Amino acid sequence: MPILVMKFGGTSVATLDRIRRAAKRVGREVANGYDVIVIVSAMAGETNKLVGLVEETSQFFDAREYDAVVSSGENVTAGLMALTMQEMDVPARSWQGWQVPLRTTDAHAAARIEEIPPENIMTKFAEGMRVAVVAGFQGIGPDGRITTLGRGGSDTTAVAFAAAFGAERCDIYTDVDGVYTTDPRISDKARKLDRIAFEEMLELASLGARVLQTRSVELAMRYKVRLRVLSSFGEFDDNAGTLVCAEEDIVESNVVAGVAYSRDEAKMTLISVADRPGIAAAIFGPLAEAGVNVDMIVQNISEEGRTDMTFSCPTDQVARAEKAMEHAKATGDINFHDLVADTDVAKISIVGIGMRSHAGVAAKMFATLRDENINIKVITTSEIKVSVLVDRKYLELAIQSLHDAFELEKTA
Ligand code: ADP
Ligand code: ASP
Ligand code: MG
Repeated sequence: MPILVMKFGGTSVATLDRIRRAAKRVGREVANGYDVIVIVSAMAGETNKLVGLVEETSQFFDAREYDAVVSSGENVTAGLMALTMQEMDVPARSWQGWQVPLRTTDAHAAARIEEIPPENIMTKFAEGMRVAVVAGFQGIGPDGRITTLGRGGSDTTAVAFAAAFGAERCDIYTDVDGVYTTDPRISDKARKLDRIAFEEMLELASLGARVLQTRSVELAMRYKVRLRVLSSFGEFDDNAGTLVCAEEDIVESNVVAGVAYSRDEAKMTLISVADRPGIAAAIFGPLAEAGVNVDMIVQNISEEGRTDMTFSCPTDQVARAEKAMEHAKATGDINFHDLVADTDVAKISIVGIGMRSHAGVAAKMFATLRDENINIKVITTSEIKVSVLVDRKYLELAIQSLHDAFELEKTA
């Protein structure tokens, strides 16, 4: 039988009622003749609660035990979903990551999927099971311990299963009815896109649009998975949602496809470091080793052999970054006068493959922010995106004004 992967996010399984509603959608696809692999997230709020408990134990916790704790939310939903399907007389069974087994690297809290042998689940399908409910977000590492795939990782579990099982489609059910030109919770002018190119979705996701985990888009692009994002609350409609697809499959699109943001950024400045060969390596090496995800980097003008080095990272990694830099200073690897953390900034990005062939997009972005009197602190660009760091109080204003300036509420 053809296989379908259906993933339900936290809000879609937040209560037993919602699990029943999701189960009905699955039952409908079973009736349509599919064997279904259902990937579930933890119930809404559960993972945050578990992360909070771990963080209360220690600021620099052991990532293996973090994974042991935070992976547990998904186990509950997997079992509840299987029970609900059984109540509907659909043969179903739940699977935790290690039972599949979904094998990952040993990068705890940010593991990457290495393989998903389909045999165990396929044997059960052959025996008449119609629905395999798999706990998302988790796997088993080379040392036999539980791993997790990073926040939002159930999306990646879903796409990886779709690739491994040659599924006809991977449907990501969430609390909005597709991918929008910007977060619909921030702007009521946000417009739902019928289609979006993999490259654009990849950038939007990596720049903060959490509707899909970045890695899930990478996998879908690499393995040509038909990926659809849709609401678990809407009517049954086979054409609903947004299809994430190859650029060639999109007829017309705006120069800018969307605006993404990341609220929890910090701007860190090392004041007065020696401007000498190897200084960047001496700073960013220890930061990488400490697990700090450095994003933007600016080296300021050098005077008398000293310079300021600015970088951005997520706010919850500021303590790690400070510790790594203090350690490097104590061991004499680097010398700086001060480390200043500005934790009140946000990153706003515009994304679109049209930027490859249109000049002046970045200039228009800067002019739009100038007209709103928003000061830009750091800028980075790539072929299809421009990102700026601004004071967090301007987040909504910046998004709205860019959405207006690039006329994203209109179709191309
Ligand atoms: P789930 O729990 O289903 O995985 P998430 O909270 O991870 O759901 O992702 C869905 C959320 O992503 C939406 O509620 C929305 O606020 C946010 N979001 C951010 N940017 C976008 C966008 N461009 N399009 C749609 N949703 C977006
Ligand atoms: N429950 C995990 C999280 O909240 C994984 C997911 O929902 O995708 O990050
Ligand atoms: Mg998510």
